[in-house]
Amino acid sequence: MSTTLIQNGTIVSATGRSTGDVLIDGESIAAILAPGQSAGMGIVADRTIDATGKYVVPGGIDAHTHMELPFGGTFASDSFESGTTAAAWGGVTTIVDFAVQRTGEAVQDGLAGWHEKAAGNCAIDYAFHQIIGGVDEDSLKAMTYLVDNEGVTSFKLFMAYPGVFYSDDGQILRAMQNAGESGAMIMMHAENGIAIDVLVAQALARGETDPMFHSLTRPAELEAEATHRAIELSKVAGNVPLYIVHMSASEALEEVAAAQHAGLNVFGETCPQYLYLTLEDQLMQPGFEGAKWVCSTPLRTKHAHHQSDLWKGLRLNELAIVSTDHCPFCMKDQKELGLGNFSAIPNGIGGVEHRMELIYQGVVTGEIGLERWVETCSTTPARMFGLDTKGQIAPGFDADVLIWDPNGTTKIGIDDKHHMNMDHSAYEGFEVDGKVDTVISRGRVIVENDTFSGEAGWGKYVKRGLSQYLH
Ligand SMILES: [Zn+2]
Repeated sequence: MSTTLIQNGTIVSATGRSTGDVLIDGESIAAILAPGQSAGMGIVADRTIDATGKYVVPGGIDAHTHMELPFGGTFASDSFESGTTAAAWGGVTTIVDFAVQRTGEAVQDGLAGWHEKAAGNCAIDYAFHQIIGGVDEDSLKAMTYLVDNEGVTSFKLFMAYPGVFYSDDGQILRAMQNAGESGAMIMMHAENGIAIDVLVAQALARGETDPMFHSLTRPAELEAEATHRAIELSKVAGNVPLYIVHMSASEALEEVAAAQHAGLNVFGETCPQYLYLTLEDQLMQPGFEGAKWVCSTPLRTKHAHHQSDLWKGLRLNELAIVSTDHCPFCMKDQKELGLGNFSAIPNGIGGVEHRMELIYQGVVTGEIGLERWVETCSTTPARMFGLDTKGQIAPGFDADVLIWDPNGTTKIGIDDKHHMNMDHSAYEGFEVDGKVDTVISRGRVIVENDTFSGEAGWGKYVKRGLSQYLH
């Protein structure tokens, strides 16, 4: 087992910062030492990394990705290999991807299919949530089995996409009751898909086919209504823990905040695209360009206060986690499926590589504190989803470490720094402060000096425990 000593950096956790050296032994963190203490103790590491002037933080955890997701007649363009490699470049050391059960398919078959895609292909560690596309007796039994045996302790349901992933209220209630018994977390795509489909059909009938109508047919009210309904159903099911994914609207955030104030176990998630991109500046770009930013929930208007509310939610913990909902599609042959019909554009934005820097920019601009960056991008995702050995720089935890250079800058775009399998970037031209310096996955340096030194197959499947917030 080889040892590594990260010296002279500022260790930043969710609760504070300190100067110290991190001693890694094999794949775990062995000790945090006071500066200079290692010499006095006669510790000579196999390898020493000088982190002077840099932050030493737990590797990023992206709790919401979709590698190779089948959607809209095509597949998300990142494989587990390309997607996890891009994630590593961006300082991420664990992803939680969504295994899919399609309606009519056995849950275990869906999970097995996901294992097959990921095994031997990931550059960083990975875990799975399970999408339940058809709540019935068999899938309810399977949910319990997955919690007890497979390390899958969270289940995503959809109030959107009728005929694809959609669950009706009765199905949602039954799945929540089941989760209440097993201790699992229910994750919800909260948009009223039945009403949205009516608005989409009416828009298309009027000849409104451009990408911007994707957002205009998914109004904030229908995100808020579904969020409210999911909360009430979780209450009826016995205050079952509920996690609302990819929140984009002020009105929906108000529902989550109200539920939290009422003592319910409701958690919120947002993504960088909702903090930085808008209907007017991106989705309404001329011609078909806006298709790059078709995702659900949709980008919102800049003439309301969605973005400032989402940042406030992050400060106040109404939003616990920032993940990416990484679901990349190329323009060519993929987004183009929706030329002349916005509703046929595959939904998704790629961003797994850029979350750490985009949210760090919120530290630079004063939206959140440095510790909150660590908390929302690593420590809370680990605790929320039962990744018991991740998300902290502390003895016994996995040696997943990001060394961050606050004096560096990062240019985002396909020409500059982009390892995702996409022919465009949702953040093309963005230049932000801070830079990934070194990335360590279970004790192994996988990115340094702007070079990737990891490999597909290094990443292991991580069985998850129950959410640490409730168990
Ligand atoms: Zn998603």
